[in-house]
Amino acid sequence: MIEGSCLCGGVRYQYDGEIGEISICHCAQCRKAQGSAFAAVSPVASDKFRLIAGAELLREYRSSADKARVFCSRCGSPIYSVKDDLPEVRRLRLGTVDTPIACDNVFHIFVDSKASWWDVGDAHPRFAGRKP
Ligand SMILES: [Zn+2]
Ligand SMILES: [Zn+2]
Repeated sequence: MIEGSCLCGGVRYQYDGEIGEISICHCAQCRKAQGSAFAAVSPVASDKFRLIAGAELLREYRSSADKARVFCSRCGSPIYSVKDDLPEVRRLRLGTVDTPIACDNVFHIFVDSKASWWDVGDAHPRFAGRKP
């Protein structure tokens, strides 16, 4: 069981599944949404994701018409995103995970959009845009 929470602790969730991949997204939208060089994201099954607390704190912002970025309205932590045409999958922001997790399947996407001040220095696969 994986547990996570936002910065203020108002939003808490559990995920009863595995983390099968970690995508490090360098796109400009994710950089702004996280206020950082990239977003670390993993797809999780919506039916195994359970909100324990803070449903009333969650707000969404749509940087694209078909995708909601869901965050805590009290502290601003990004929690997950979900696409309208794929509600069974949420893309969890791994910075909010409290349980130690391990995953070897890590890759970089949208490296062409990365912050000029950030060097991707690891050996994980890199893709200029989306993962093919
Ligand atoms: Zn919060
Ligand atoms: Zn992105």
